[in-house]
Amino acid sequence: MSNVQLSAEKHLNFINGEWTGGNLKTFDVINPANGKVIAKVPYSGKAETDEAIEAAHTAFQSWSKTAATERAQVLRKVAEMMHENKEELAKIMTLEMGKPLAESRGEVNYAASFLEWYAEEARRVYGRTVPGKSANNRIQVVKQPVGVVAAITPWNFPAAMITRKLGPALAAGCTIVIKPAESTPLTAMKLMEFCEEAGVPKGVVNLVTGNPGEIGEAFMSNPKVRKVTFTGSTAVGKHLIRQSADTVKNISLELGGHAPLIIFDDADIEKAVQGAIASKYRNAGQTCICINRIYVQTNVYDKFVSAFTEAVSQLKVGNGLDEGVDIGPMINKAGYEKVDKHVQDAVSKGAEVVIGGQGEVVNENACFYQPTILKDVTSEMVIMSEETFGPVAPIQKFETEEEVIEFANNTPYGLSAYFYTESVTRGTKIMESLDYGIVGWNDALPSTAQAPFGGMKESGIGREGGIEGIEPYLETKYVSLGL
Ligand code: ADP
Repeated sequence: MSNVQLSAEKHLNFINGEWTGGNLKTFDVINPANGKVIAKVPYSGKAETDEAIEAAHTAFQSWSKTAATERAQVLRKVAEMMHENKEELAKIMTLEMGKPLAESRGEVNYAASFLEWYAEEARRVYGRTVPGKSANNRIQVVKQPVGVVAAITPWNFPAAMITRKLGPALAAGCTIVIKPAESTPLTAMKLMEFCEEAGVPKGVVNLVTGNPGEIGEAFMSNPKVRKVTFTGSTAVGKHLIRQSADTVKNISLELGGHAPLIIFDDADIEKAVQGAIASKYRNAGQTCICINRIYVQTNVYDKFVSAFTEAVSQLKVGNGLDEGVDIGPMINKAGYEKVDKHVQDAVSKGAEVVIGGQGEVVNENACFYQPTILKDVTSEMVIMSEETFGPVAPIQKFETEEEVIEFANNTPYGLSAYFYTESVTRGTKIMESLDYGIVGWNDALPSTAQAPFGGMKESGIGREGGIEGIEPYLETKYVSLGL
């Protein structure tokens, strides 16, 4: 089925330009489409993390002083290598986390675009001059790299969640230590190979795989790490905030979401259905900006439900490496069980399963869930407030704009929200009322390198992408000069 070459000699930590950790205990990387072990990688802890931080700290002394154009060139080269090796990288991603190959290919482009964007932004890290406080005073504001960055990334976008941090960090002149998710270390290792071949100097980029708690603790307690950037669950994000206190770390967090999709009675229903399919079912519903709940205005409710159901009935579930598959496996059994629990809770409280509603447990490590629509859902059902991370679309009716804004904002999350209306007046009011960092108006796929992705409330701190995305990697210093 797959002709992917997994280069076992590079299934290791990457520290100071060396592939290391072959003597450590290992953990299994599993293909969630069949439950088979595809690789064993180092189960690193504090010692390896400290070693990587030390390497990054040493490399920072010279990397931070290179010309921005030089850093840009290296980033562009890594991006080129990603494009040249797209098929290989995409297959590794599908093998270790299950998303359909077409989505993996799309992720390679998306991931590379962060390196390309920040290669350009490297040249635009501007300071400014400010009027002095007296005739004999001048004030200059300069931007400098923060220092060693620790990055902790999730499994759902194994490449893009790394490059979204790596791109701006390197562009700014920082060095980095990356800890990828346990499910997806192989994509991260392949990216390290590209960095190595592209000529990223040793120690500038480092990777450790292993014990999340111990590596996280080593990052947080080490004063040489000046910035921590994390994408993952809100629970771990809160834990990192607490841990960051002792060394007062500069911290960026991209956490969970619970995205509403609102369909007004003047929406283009066909467009809304396409958006709902694209956002809800990509990556089997396992992204933090996937639509989690759908509100449809009463007089287009039946029309939307039937058109949406027809579209969902076309989706094919299976191994992401097989042609024509739209929905791959759930990342693991715990992910599957959460989805199933949400569906059962909704059904027990009166929701109707329109399509789907069950899954298949192939074995302990391979579980699939059918694309599902639930209708007649109410706010009391768990699925309307907890992140599902699966291919289930619960639909609730609403009457007025005021009512639906209250539904939409009644959550501790504030990452992304979507709505469909053809009215500019209505849309402008709705857009301004939504307490979300990302709003898609007639657009359910808003992510792109040039826009500042990020959440309000418990969805996080800071933004990634856009001109905002390099700021977290820069310190501001001003020089007051007496003449
Ligand atoms: P998910 O539920 O999507 O797996 P997590 O927040 O558990 O989300 O995982 C996101 C990343 O955080 C992964 O790289 C994971 O290994 C890491 N992680 C998990 N627990 C900790 C921890 N205690 N400290 C630091 N990182 C952690």
